[in-house]
Amino acid sequence: MSYKKTEHYDEEATAALMKNYRDNISLLGEDPDREGLLKTPERIAKAMQYITQGYGQDAEAVLNSAKFHEDVSEMVIVKDIELYSMCEHHMLPFYGKAHVAYIPNGYITGLSKIARVVDIYSRRLQVQERLTHQILDAIHNSLNPLGVAVVIEASHLCMMMRGVSKQNSVTTTSAFYGEFQKNETRSEFMKLISAKLH
Ligand SMILES: [Zn+2]
Repeated sequence: MSYKKTEHYDEEATAALMKNYRDNISLLGEDPDREGLLKTPERIAKAMQYITQGYGQDAEAVLNSAKFHEDVSEMVIVKDIELYSMCEHHMLPFYGKAHVAYIPNGYITGLSKIARVVDIYSRRLQVQERLTHQILDAIHNSLNPLGVAVVIEASHLCMMMRGVSKQNSVTTTSAFYGEFQKNETRSEFMKLISAKLH
């Protein structure tokens, strides 16, 4: 297997992170020996490793692991893919939805693999713009399709909880390759992702 699906924690990294988070708790003015906080450094250490597990995973290998020859050239859309990531500026979460489409050029991939690619790049310290392009590039490089489109809509806790406190703002980013650079194809995709089908 070219990637791991299970939760796996590096013992050395966990121990070092635990020590760090214990210090952080003190520095923030709390008592790390308080009952409710005793296991907190370990929980954060494991949560953070889980949240950043995308570094050890190869998105193109995932796509190639379920790549099939198929003579179709209709747009394939996977919409409303749940997304949870961490902004690299504040290490606070941003979350939302990704909508991904491609137009096959002889090859298709498993639909669940598209969602996996979103996870792999989300589970890192990110900016939404780069995340959008990385998803597009992975699909472009592994399937060589006629076109790829990625739209991400996300809320950023660093904007909602601190500073400007804009609770309801949603950031939308997009990236288009090939056929999707044509107005007609791109608007068909935009129409399809905004449509309620049921
Ligand atoms: Zn931020």
